[in-house]
Amino acid sequence: MTSVYLNPAQFKAELERCLNCPTQPCFKACPTACNPASFIQLAKIGRLRAAANDLRQTNPMAHVCGLLCPERFCMQACTRGRIDFPIHIPAVQAYLMRAAEKEGPSAESSCPESSVPTQGSAVAVIGAGPAGLSAACRLAQNGYPVTLFEQSDRIGGALNMIPAERLPCNALAADWNFIQSAGRITLRLNTPVPDIQKTAADFAGVIVATGLPIGGMLNIPGETDILPYQTYLTNPETYAGGGNVAVIGGGNVAADCALTALQNGATHVELFVRRGLKHMRMSARERNTLIERGVEITTLTRPTGVVRQADGLLTLETIKTRLTEGKLTDIPGTRLNCPDWRVIIKAIGSVKTRFPESATLIEAGDCKSGSSTVVEAVASGKAAADKLIQTLKEKTSSP
Ligand code: SF4
Repeated sequence: MTSVYLNPAQFKAELERCLNCPTQPCFKACPTACNPASFIQLAKIGRLRAAANDLRQTNPMAHVCGLLCPERFCMQACTRGRIDFPIHIPAVQAYLMRAAEKEGPSAESSCPESSVPTQGSAVAVIGAGPAGLSAACRLAQNGYPVTLFEQSDRIGGALNMIPAERLPCNALAADWNFIQSAGRITLRLNTPVPDIQKTAADFAGVIVATGLPIGGMLNIPGETDILPYQTYLTNPETYAGGGNVAVIGGGNVAADCALTALQNGATHVELFVRRGLKHMRMSARERNTLIERGVEITTLTRPTGVVRQADGLLTLETIKTRLTEGKLTDIPGTRLNCPDWRVIIKAIGSVKTRFPESATLIEAGDCKSGSSTVVEAVASGKAAADKLIQTLKEKTSSP
């Protein structure tokens, strides 16, 4: 298995390629306001820990984001892309974080909580995924005691569904170490919050970051025989074994399902994608990894139904599509039956639930905006925390 981290030579080469652009387009493109131009310059002069600390100032989940950020933010904006190819900024970030963590904690690499007095208002964050963790960190850094509720037995939320070959567990552990260093966070695992309004009455403010519900309907006959990705990725060993596995979807989650199926013994794994290769919501690097690992990708194909065969396997019924001026239409006469799937997984976006927000009850992450990337969830958690802090400050200062 190739490492998810750059090696020292690759890291150095990426640093050398950076142009230190005065306009810093990479900075402007980051949802969490990380500044690659700045941390790359620090790393260039050997100040790796300072560079990592720089990252931590804006992104409490800097290590995880370094491993998972797609190309469409800083890399897409990188000036170097117009000369040859963009700096692989997220990979540089992941290398930096790991290098600094290997050196051990320093005073600066912890949350700067000691200088901030503890506030009287206790707050709650519901959900310990990327948005919830980031919100909890921001609130704690600003002096608020936080109770962080998580219904499962571990932090990370949807990150726990990502295969270790894409997200080694050390990355989340490192980010959690940093978040905890803010102090004031009480983590309550195995604690679902069935009545959010009731819980809200016990706190000065609540941030709801519960992620997406299981959902995402294809609305096709036989859909009950298709596994939602959340069901599959939560317990992939339940579905382990040889045979064919189909994954409907073309994003990061579909890639995770495909890689997990391979790890669990599938002999043939195929992605069915409604749009073309260039519209898939994964980086070229991730797509190439899939192809190198033998995952087939069938594009411009829409599932129309699933039929259980007499032998228990599944037939996926499809039709070819065409994309014209952004509009996807079926091509008449192109229906095709694809038989003999042992498992069919749908890795498509879930529908967000509506929630009655107020000034002190604020949504963050996927449950607010639908499926998003980790870096967007982090930004959303930070923004929700800032909004709540502002409200609490106004309440405190009003007579
Ligand atoms: S845009 Fe690219 S080349 Fe320019 S400073 Fe940012 S990382 Fe370096």
